[in-house]
Amino acid sequence: MEYAGLSHEEMATLQSGGSLSIDQADRMIENVVGVYGLPLGIATNFLLNGRDYLIPMVVEEPSVVAGLSYAARLVRQGGGFQTSSDEPVMIGQMQVLDVPDPAAARLRLLAAKEELLTFANQLDPIIVRLGGGARDIQVRLMDDSPVGPMLVVHLLYDVRDAMGANAVNTAAEALSPLVESLTGGRVGLRILSNLADHRLARAQGVVPAEALALEGLTPQEGVQRLLEAYAFAAVDPYRAATHNKGIMNGIDAVVIATGNDWRAIEAGAHTYAARSGTYRPLTAWERNANGDLVGSIELPLAVGTVGGATRVHPQAQVALKILGVSGARELAQVMAAVGLAQNLAALRALAMEGIQRGHMQLHARQVAMAAGASGDMVERVAARLVEEKVVRVDRAEAILAELRAQGS
Ligand code: NAD
Repeated sequence: MEYAGLSHEEMATLQSGGSLSIDQADRMIENVVGVYGLPLGIATNFLLNGRDYLIPMVVEEPSVVAGLSYAARLVRQGGGFQTSSDEPVMIGQMQVLDVPDPAAARLRLLAAKEELLTFANQLDPIIVRLGGGARDIQVRLMDDSPVGPMLVVHLLYDVRDAMGANAVNTAAEALSPLVESLTGGRVGLRILSNLADHRLARAQGVVPAEALALEGLTPQEGVQRLLEAYAFAAVDPYRAATHNKGIMNGIDAVVIATGNDWRAIEAGAHTYAARSGTYRPLTAWERNANGDLVGSIELPLAVGTVGGATRVHPQAQVALKILGVSGARELAQVMAAVGLAQNLAALRALAMEGIQRGHMQLHARQVAMAAGASGDMVERVAARLVEEKVVRVDRAEAILAELRAQGS
């Protein structure tokens, strides 16, 4: 942990297992009865815009961290990831009902844009001082709905280094009386949208064809295998769902490690994936003029380095320090690169060796533990399961009983 410059205290926080105290937990949610632990691992080999990163990941699934580190090494051989991200602009929605003349009301709202933005900018002086705040008003006219026509007003709001839900929701609520008087209607819901499509992050990376000359394949055959795996997801939503799930294996793990809201990220990612009307993969893979494999990803990533649990959870603080990011935009870029690399890891495993071989050893350990093994029995039972190629709890229980009988 020398590389990340962690103090002894920060190392202790990471390794304490349940460093969130029951008191802290009790202040975070309601009806607290305990603290739930998950493994925190570090993925390596990340080179992003010329800088090395260590990636803290909280995830319960075997092979995710190892797969990510492996894929990051492949992209490193092609020069690492290039990333970018938009200004951190969120959308606050106001639903306006019972509007007498929706088309005219829309024009009145747009004409009053400056007044609305000025009003919204009085509400969070911290964000405004940091260069954020209300940016724009958009008005969408829904001609029909199950309850008739409605206007939907979007407040675009730059939330700087926060995820931004509170600032945006506060602004949407405060603006509502003004919106009602301008439209002659009644404001229903006032809440941010998790389809944060003004706040996109992108990553791109090249894998040299030679790095894919694996398992007896030529470099070009290796590239072709991955392109075929991607093509499956590009045309079939059944496969695209699993393709994107693999991407989120990596992204969610970093989102959780840094104390961010993974439901918000999941909602945004999948809605963005379906924006064309068909559910599509979040990544794209192609062959460049040199014959190398090029991958890219783009998705909304509304994550913060302040606010929510990021500053409350002690391990999230250490995770952010390990990442060494300057703010929310850089964090989103790292997550985009993680998503792309996790996808590469999954496609490589699926298109070449099949997912189970690499997975087997780790999976066998979990099965051994589920069967009741502890200490060195975990490895001994897992080794037998892998040897027998039967990774099932009933078999693990039988092996465990056998080993215990031998021991006694
Ligand atoms: P927050 O309100 O805790 O912190 C953000 C505030 O911190 C800002 O409003 C600002 O006043 C201050 N701040 C200090 N330094 C800042 C900086 N550099 N950049 C920006 N702001 C700075 O947190 P939040 O991000 O508004 O809310 C996140 C929480 O909201 C999450 O826990 C999420 O789960 C929850 N939430 C989500 C949804 C949703 O996704 N639909 C809805 C409601 C609540």
